[in-house]
Amino acid sequence: MNALDSLVEMTRTLGDPQNDYVVIGEGNTSMRLDAESFAVKASGQQMHNIDADGFASVYLEPILGLLDHPPTSMSEQKRITQSAVLPPNALGGTEGGLSPSIEVSFHAMLLQECGVKYIGHTHPTAINQVLCTEHAAAFARQRRFPDEVVLCGPQSLLTPYGDPGLPLALIMRHHLRQFITQYGETPKLILLQNHGMIALGDTPGEILNITAMAVKAAKIFAGALQLGKATRLPDEEVQHLYKRPDEIYRRQLFVEDSKTH
Ligand SMILES: [Zn+2]
Repeated sequence: MNALDSLVEMTRTLGDPQNDYVVIGEGNTSMRLDAESFAVKASGQQMHNIDADGFASVYLEPILGLLDHPPTSMSEQKRITQSAVLPPNALGGTEGGLSPSIEVSFHAMLLQECGVKYIGHTHPTAINQVLCTEHAAAFARQRRFPDEVVLCGPQSLLTPYGDPGLPLALIMRHHLRQFITQYGETPKLILLQNHGMIALGDTPGEILNITAMAVKAAKIFAGALQLGKATRLPDEEVQHLYKRPDEIYRRQLFVEDSKTH
């Protein structure tokens, strides 16, 4: 068994054309490997048919350094990023020569700041049709049905549009830290204005569940807006659902179930 098997399977499922989460080379995923490193989809790979050789294993520290001290030139940024890639086959993965996804910086930042093991970034059509409208903030802030609260959390983090790569990672870090200060916890779901979504979790199953539920919530929201005024759950109901012992138990069951996936 390869160390990357769980990441490969999760990535293929997210990339399944039937889900309509990504097309062609869209989207990327990552998994924490150990204290110092993580695996991230390599640039140019497609999610639906990826295998372990489609991932680059990367040291965290140099990538986090890019956020703390952004290089002044793109060539310097590329040099630092490429120097962070582990030697070929160090973890039974890449055959070498692969460049990490352009989004390697936000993966490193989120794995570190949110303390999660898996990340799934996709561009679902249902999500983007909401994130490309003036209703994006309401979709992130409000909850409309109980299972959305249970899986996606009481609210999502919405980040303004940023140029993919280091600029987006810097904007995301700024808004993530504000979110943690305001709510006292990390988000399960991050929504990127005019771009896509990110699911954060400790198992592949959690990533798949959050993504599926976020897509369902976006479809419900878009449909509700077509029929009339979309209603929402009151904040006190959202908090009640999130903190209810039986809902916490249900959430744990989702996590236990996803560990077996
Ligand atoms: Zn993207």
